[in-house]
Amino acid sequence: VKHVKKYFPLSKKWFVEKKYVKAVDDVSFFIKKGETFGLVGESGCGKSTTGRLINGLIKADTGEINFQGTNVANISEKLWKRYRKPMQMVFQDPYASLSPRMKVKDILMEPLTIHYPKMSKQEKEILVKDLLEKCGISEFHLSKYPHEFSGGQRQRIGIARSLILKPELIIADEPVSALDVSIQSQILNLMKDLQEEFGLTYLFISHDLGVVEHISDRVGVMYLGSLVEIATKKQIFADPKHPYTQALLSSIPKPDPKEKREPIMLEGEIPSASNPPVGCKFHTRCPLAMDICKQKVPELKQIEQEQQVACHLFD
Ligand code: SF4
Ligand code: MG
Repeated sequence: VKHVKKYFPLSKKWFVEKKYVKAVDDVSFFIKKGETFGLVGESGCGKSTTGRLINGLIKADTGEINFQGTNVANISEKLWKRYRKPMQMVFQDPYASLSPRMKVKDILMEPLTIHYPKMSKQEKEILVKDLLEKCGISEFHLSKYPHEFSGGQRQRIGIARSLILKPELIIADEPVSALDVSIQSQILNLMKDLQEEFGLTYLFISHDLGVVEHISDRVGVMYLGSLVEIATKKQIFADPKHPYTQALLSSIPKPDPKEKREPIMLEGEIPSASNPPVGCKFHTRCPLAMDICKQKVPELKQIEQEQQVACHLFD
């Protein structure tokens, strides 16, 4: 993802002064094949929009999104069809994305029918049964409807559906946020197992740092449409560099109470993405803000191997 921007106009009326929500504001990062890249930040920071841009659900204003050797940011809807198969999404609310009037097996067979019109029904059924089994849904439930399952089971079905076409990249947007904590780790472990078995690459979007820590190899932290830090999971959680990352982390409890982190209280609300602060967007809440922070946008810079930070403290 290179210099991707997506601004949403606040009003389409010509006589109203043009204002935009700067949802994704010049974002660049890459995801390595086979890894899980966790994209984290508070709600409204642009992480879901980033996922939807990559998946082609919405089009970027500018920038490149390179996937399998092609810049998919600007290709036609017709060409997109080629990338729908290798790139799939898992959503927060599987219930909303599963058709209530379809049996589970039909939900999974549908994409096969679309993409492999010549495949026999029997063949499809075998694939569906096998995949659901791997996702923890036994074959006895194939003829049930989505409402007959629990939230956790429905997410298992949502995950199975995302895998039926053998994708390479899964974009999972808050896939466990609607689930009880006890179920969350089951789903995360399932995703890890499936990743290993099928060689999947994940873009894992979440506001929950604990969840991101559980599943990610590398992490990107977003604030008001910008990536402020990218690093390995270890670096982010052991040695966060950006003041915003530090504040986010300070709010999650550590397993060892002796290691207690001092919570860093951020002042004020998140500013509006339609009118973000100039300079560093975080300067209105940053406990370490300096004069330059109000004037100059800090660029994302490499400060250690695998660690990039956008903050003037590291100039
Ligand atoms: Fe804080 Fe300045 Fe760094 Fe922004 S650039 S995070 S305001 S120190
Ligand atoms: Mg979101």
